[in-house]
Amino acid sequence: MEDKFEIVSDQVNRIQLVDTHEHLIDESERLNCVKPYIQCDDWTTILGMYTKFDFVSAGMTQKEIELISSQEILPLEKWKIIQSYWNKIKHTGYGQVIQHTINELYGISVLHEKSIPELQEKYIDYRKKGFYEETLKRANIKCCIVNPPGRPFKETELPSLLYQDIDAMGMIRMDFESLNENIIPKITELNDWLEVINWWFKKYANNAVGVKIGMAYFRRLNFDKTTIELANQLFSKKIEDKKLSQIEEKTLQDYLFWYVVELATKNGLPVKFHTGHQAMNNFMNLENVMFNPADCANLCRLSPDTKFIFFHISYPYYEPMISLTKHYSNAIIDMCWSWTVNPIASIDFLKKYIMTSPINKLMAFGGDDLYVENLIGHAKVARKGISIALSELIKDKWISEIDSIEIAERIMWKNAVEIYGID
Ligand SMILES: [Zn+2]
Repeated sequence: MEDKFEIVSDQVNRIQLVDTHEHLIDESERLNCVKPYIQCDDWTTILGMYTKFDFVSAGMTQKEIELISSQEILPLEKWKIIQSYWNKIKHTGYGQVIQHTINELYGISVLHEKSIPELQEKYIDYRKKGFYEETLKRANIKCCIVNPPGRPFKETELPSLLYQDIDAMGMIRMDFESLNENIIPKITELNDWLEVINWWFKKYANNAVGVKIGMAYFRRLNFDKTTIELANQLFSKKIEDKKLSQIEEKTLQDYLFWYVVELATKNGLPVKFHTGHQAMNNFMNLENVMFNPADCANLCRLSPDTKFIFFHISYPYYEPMISLTKHYSNAIIDMCWSWTVNPIASIDFLKKYIMTSPINKLMAFGGDDLYVENLIGHAKVARKGISIALSELIKDKWISEIDSIEIAERIMWKNAVEIYGID
C-alpha cells in the first residue's frame, strides 16, 4: 500500500494545479496593508482567515481575537495568547495547512514558543514584491480563479495568474450603495436596479470566468421563478423604505437571482455557489445547509442551459452531491476548501465520486484563502488527499495506475481549463 501511495503521490506532486477558488487581494494591496484585509502585518496574518475560526470554536474570546489581530501587541507576545488554542486545533485541516506552510515556506518544523522569532523574521522577509508569483511557483499552481473581496469585479494587476469572477451576491441582496457606482443617479424602481446589474455584466463579463453567488450564508438556495410584475411591486415597496416580510424579501431575491443567472448564461459564464459548511463562527443554520443538495438539484432542473458549479462538496452533505452530478449534465463540483474543512471526508468523497460520476465534472483544488502563503500548505494537504484516494482505489483494484494519472490530470487542471475556457 505504502509504495502505491508513494508512486501516485510522486506523480500528483508533479502535476501543476489550476486553483479554481481564492479570495486574494492584489499583491500591492497586500503589501500596502489595505484594511480590513490586513490588520497587522506580522506572522499571525497567515492564521487568518481559517485558523482563527478554529481558535474561536475551541474557546478563544472575541477580545483575544482582537488582541492577536492588533498592532498594539508585539508579534512575539501574541504567542502567549495563541499557544493553548493552537494546541487544541493543530491537527485539524486548518491547522495542517499552517504546519505545512511554515515547514515548506519558512523551513520551520513546529509552531512553538522558540520558533516564533524566526517565523516573524521569515514572514517579513518573504512577503515582498513578486511573492505572489513565487508562491504559486513553489506550490506548483499554474493560476488561480479569484472571487475578489469587496467589489463585484476587480481588474487585477496579475491577469495572467489571477483570473476573476463576478460576485453577484450584492446584486441579489440589493446592496444599493456599494454596487451603484454612479451608474444611475437615483434608484427608484426595479428597472433602475436591473440597469445597475446590466452595467456590471456589460463592463466585465468578457474579462470574467464565472459568476459567484454566496447566498447560502443567508438563506436556502430555493430560488423560485417569479414574475416581473410581482418583483416590481416588491421592489417599489422596499425602495419606499417599507419593510418587506421575509417571504416578500425572498421572492424579490428569487427574481434577481434568476435575472443574474440568465445574464451569466447568455454571457457563457458558469454560475458557482457556496454550498455546505459555513466559515466563521456561531451563526450557521445547519437546517438550511442540509437542504443545499436538494435545492441545487432544483436549480439544475429549472435552468438546464446554465452550467452550475457547486463548491465545497456541500460538506457534510457530500454523498447527495455525487448523486446530483451523476444525474444532471449541468452540475459540476469544485472541491475548493473541502480538503481543509475535513481532509478525511474529502478523500472519501473523491473515491466515491470517481466510482460514481463522470470524471469531467470535478475540480479538485481551491484554497479559498485571502493570504497567498497558505496555498503552499493547502496544496500540500490536497495533493496528499488526492494521492491517498487514488492509491486506495488502485489497491482495491478499481482502477489502474495509468487510470489514476489520467484522473489526477483531469481533476487537477484539465477540467478547470475546459469548464472555464482558460488557456
Ligand atoms: Zn470562497
